[in-house]
Amino acid sequence: MNISNTKQNLKKSIFYSCCIVGGGPAGIMLGYIMAKYGVEVVVMEKHKDFFRDFRGDTIHPSTLNILDELGDLDDFLKVPHDKMTEFTMTFGDKQIALADFKKLNIKTPFIAFTPQWNFLNFLTEKAQNLPNFNLLMATEAIDILQENGKVVGVKAISEKGVVLINSNLVVGADGRHSIIRKKASLNVYNLGSPIDVLWFRLNKPDVTFKKSFANSNKGKFLILIDRTEYWQCGFITTKGNYENLKSIGIVNFQNEITSILPELKDVVTQLTNFEQIKNLSVTVDRLEKWYTEGLICIGDSAHAMSPIGGVGINLAIQDAVAMANVLVPIFKNSNIPTSKDLKKIQNRRMFPTKFTQGVQLLIQNKSLKPFLTDKKKDDVPSFLKLLKWFPPLRILPTRFIGLGVRTEKIQL
Ligand SMILES: Cc1cc2nc3c(=O)[nH]c(=O)nc-3n(C[C@H](O)[C@H](O)[C@H](O)COP(=O)(O)OP(=O)(O)OC[C@H]3O[C@@H](n4cnc5c(N)ncnc54)[C@H](O)[C@@H]3O)c2cc1C
Repeated sequence: MNISNTKQNLKKSIFYSCCIVGGGPAGIMLGYIMAKYGVEVVVMEKHKDFFRDFRGDTIHPSTLNILDELGDLDDFLKVPHDKMTEFTMTFGDKQIALADFKKLNIKTPFIAFTPQWNFLNFLTEKAQNLPNFNLLMATEAIDILQENGKVVGVKAISEKGVVLINSNLVVGADGRHSIIRKKASLNVYNLGSPIDVLWFRLNKPDVTFKKSFANSNKGKFLILIDRTEYWQCGFITTKGNYENLKSIGIVNFQNEITSILPELKDVVTQLTNFEQIKNLSVTVDRLEKWYTEGLICIGDSAHAMSPIGGVGINLAIQDAVAMANVLVPIFKNSNIPTSKDLKKIQNRRMFPTKFTQGVQLLIQNKSLKPFLTDKKKDDVPSFLKLLKWFPPLRILPTRFIGLGVRTEKIQL
């Protein structure tokens, strides 16, 4: 797909009703829905394309529902993807069925696995057919514009130089290292995280695995995501352990991997140095107040999520839908969103955020951390044993992962 800036003759200063900073799942979905329902928006993305490796690749049933409401589900299901109907974890030789999406009474009871760039390219392609959707790729927000204490736009930089965008509302959808929330001086409440994930690629071994899965053994944990020609691998470890692993050398790291999955022994030698292994520090935080006059944050910029449960994209998309439900009628009546309107959005989405982060922290601190630090431990965490003893309880993780808390519908 050819992603190009929709305003080729970029003027130095431009006005759009709504300026969305960040072309991730939250920003692109919000821009698409707003434009589809008649609001003029611009989305700016600092990269020139969406091809980045270490991103969530999971399109959950709740997001598939939204695509259905937008009339795009059938087209999306033509994008190459794997369907995951059940989620199973392996601990040594024990297998635990965590979630069974077939139990959800919905049209698409599965997680669609596809690289995030496929999802973003798909949405962008749909959105670019709409006259109200404007996309500025390779354009990085560097500051907010303020007048009399109110945010009135964004200062950005592109290959053509400085761009000033004035707007009635700025949306920070620029992820966990958000410049927008920083410039707006929104207070971040850091919830801490005891884990990090080391990501690397391995060309596929000559053995058949289940499509995408998680495996653990003796205090070590490995996730494998099928990217057709290669496995995207995530090695979960304690926070800060990357430097220790580096100091003991690459051969020891290869051994760590094969001790979890011996089938990888022939391909793990593809890792010859730590340059091939990216340490993605896991952060869990949220803003105390998501907005100020003329500006609001959503998705990871309002609440960075842990990769546990793979629900970050889910939440980002649900935020976008809730936000569009509030904002579209305001803009269509030629009004400007007030702080009271923005507060309504935060109030709607704060509970699902707090609840989801609470569950993630509980799993990280009470199960994953002891599992990773106690090397003798080769046991299934107790909350997972409960699921084995009482299978009906599986509906809880099934709903949590598949639909999330407070599932949003488009109400426009
Ligand atoms: C290691 C890891 C694994 C994960 N795995 C999963 C998973 O399997 N499933 C899942 O659902 N979630 C997963 N997540 C979480 C998920 O990736 C995020 O929660 C989700 O992407 C948030 O979407 P977003 O749109 O809010 O932010 P992001 O996806 O971070 O998008 C923000 C966008 O803003 C752009 N940007 C940043 N700064 C600027 C700027 N100044 N100007 C313009 N553009 C800017 C960025 O380039 C980016 O495209 C994972 C996260 C991590 C760290």
